[in-house]
Amino acid sequence: MDHPPAEQLDVLLTRERIDSRLRDLAATINNDYAGREVVVVGIMSGVVVFLSDLIRGLEIPVRLEFLNASSYRGASTSAGELAVDISGLPVLTGQHVLLLDDIFDTGHTLNRMIGIISAMQPASLQSAVLLWKTERNETGLSPDYFGFEIPNKFVVGYGLDYDGLYRNLPDVRVIPE
Ligand code: 5GP
Ligand code: MG
Repeated sequence: MDHPPAEQLDVLLTRERIDSRLRDLAATINNDYAGREVVVVGIMSGVVVFLSDLIRGLEIPVRLEFLNASSYRGASTSAGELAVDISGLPVLTGQHVLLLDDIFDTGHTLNRMIGIISAMQPASLQSAVLLWKTERNETGLSPDYFGFEIPNKFVVGYGLDYDGLYRNLPDVRVIPE
């Protein structure tokens, strides 16, 4: 598959819909975490746009950490082996951790991260994703917070890439099969 120009890709979620949903999501998180400090752990790199928009709606004290995970897709839209690098992550014992990822598909990425962070014995551990492909769950896990349920299509934009491209699109668009 080549890299079609962005204008040729169908828009699934407009920037306006995303903005409005993220305001609600931030309000819910502010309410649920009231009186607590949270460590937001972002799973790089697809999460960067969602994370930067969401955290600016948070009014609780926030610390920010990142880890790297990639499923080696390249120019394919199906996941390969999951590679995880947590070398930049501090020990999170006793912290309230909110794991952030761009999209929940099979659930393997979040499942693996939850295993790694749980072993550090945080005070609490929850997850938030922008997009949730509810049809594809292979782990029985579900995110604690999500922005939108979407069909099982390969999407790009708002941080998500196809073969490294399209992360800068302000909306979420669909790569044709
Ligand atoms: P999971 O491990 O839940 O199957 O997949 C999660 C990861 O796969 C996400 O962090 C994301 O990097 C990638 N992924 C899954 N579906 C899509 C998609 O539709 N578009 C893009 N760009 N990445 C996806
Ligand atoms: Mg990812």
